[in-house]
Amino acid sequence: MTLRELLIQGIKKLKDSNINNPQLVSEIFLSDILSKSKEWIIANPDFELKDSKIIDKFNEFIQRKINGEPVEYIIGKKEFFSINIKVNKNVLIPRPETEILVEKAINVIKKNSLKKVIDIGTGSGAIAISIKKEAPDIEIIATDISLDALKVAKENSKNLNINFICCDLFNGVKGKFDLIISNPPYIKTRDLKKLPDKVKNFEPINALDGGEDGLKYYKKIVGEGKNYLSKNGFIIFEIGYISVVKKLEKIFAYNNFCDIKFFRDYSNFPRVIMARYKC
Ligand code: SAM
Ligand code: GLN
Repeated sequence: MTLRELLIQGIKKLKDSNINNPQLVSEIFLSDILSKSKEWIIANPDFELKDSKIIDKFNEFIQRKINGEPVEYIIGKKEFFSINIKVNKNVLIPRPETEILVEKAINVIKKNSLKKVIDIGTGSGAIAISIKKEAPDIEIIATDISLDALKVAKENSKNLNINFICCDLFNGVKGKFDLIISNPPYIKTRDLKKLPDKVKNFEPINALDGGEDGLKYYKKIVGEGKNYLSKNGFIIFEIGYISVVKKLEKIFAYNNFCDIKFFRDYSNFPRVIMARYKC
């Protein structure tokens, strides 16, 4: 069987099940299975597939996609900040929006020569790893309540010298930090059921559920986090609801933070909020 024949079969099955971008998805799968670039797949339609295991694996991937599983879990990776991050069902798939959070954090680290950073709820490790790669001299601790998530993060961070701790927020953390960064679970509990099927049926619920008002983790991280901040230290968060800006401004101000700023993403949506402790 040739690559072209297998691709056509895959595209047809996906189309028949109303899956978006059937050609692209099929090409991504073949590229992953054959460890070749997408360009190579497109340029070599007559390549003979002699190993039946390849065909079986491709058909398995197509079936998993038809069952609703996100492509990233099927191929086990996601590109984030130009880094290939391994993912599995124990970690949230890093989102492109989170690259804005990382970019703003790197700016503040460089501008203020910050030295110690903690990433709360690191999941796949995407945030901590991207920061450490851009600012290798900083000391970075990354925490998560899920041991299974931390296994993935550790694998992703090999050779990078990131200190991982399995704990509930700061419970188990020692020392003071110049920057606390977090993309905490922030979906309001009642909104979880409105999430797309591929999110709600496959991604870990404890990575998404931000409590009744979606603010549960922000409140705790600001309230407890100030005890872990060095003088003039920063907190930077990803946010997912416009209404959170005003509420977080209040929470920050109540806890003696100042210089509260928010940043918009490419869809002009307020996506990142940052504040400084007791300036
Ligand atoms: N930082 C990753 C990213 O941006 O792609 C993952 C963010 S995900 C939205 C939130 C993470 O917080 C999950 O990995 C979850 O396991 C973790 N988490 C949930 N409750 C926590 C807690 N009480 N203490 C520490 N981490 C927690
Ligand atoms: N951005 C994620 C989503 O919409 C939610 C991530 C989070 O709760 N921090 O599915």
